[in-house]
Amino acid sequence: MAVTDCIFCRIAEGTIPAGKLYEDDLVVAFHDIHPAAPVHILVIPKAHVSSLASVDSGHEPLLGRLLAVGARLAKEQGCSDGFRTIVNTGRVGRQEVYHLHVHFLGGPEVLPPMLKH
Ligand code: 5GP
Ligand code: ZN
Repeated sequence: MAVTDCIFCRIAEGTIPAGKLYEDDLVVAFHDIHPAAPVHILVIPKAHVSSLASVDSGHEPLLGRLLAVGARLAKEQGCSDGFRTIVNTGRVGRQEVYHLHVHFLGGPEVLPPMLKH
């Protein structure tokens, strides 16, 4: 069931518009409103799940779908030579929206390096 003050629940329901790319029984994919790369897709569960830290074994089919859909869409959007997949989780992971989402980032140029200490 949707959480009323959750922006991604509202996008999933269609009550808030987003650049939707794909939708099925489990997931919705759309363009990030503030893209950090030429391709920046978010893939979310339709049902509210607050973060990757709150999934259990029952979510395994959903987690597979999130990755498989995002990978297909990233390639369709032009990431033919690779992309980066990110899931920010909780305070330490600097998660901003507490509805599970997987970022797919890419573009023609090589992305900046991963985090370094
Ligand atoms: P987080 O930091 O939680 O992993 O990332 C949240 C992402 O959601 C950010 O990249 C942000 O730009 C994106 N975002 C936040 N609100 C909206 C919205 O209303 N629409 C869309 N399309 N993206 C959003
Ligand atoms: Zn939600």
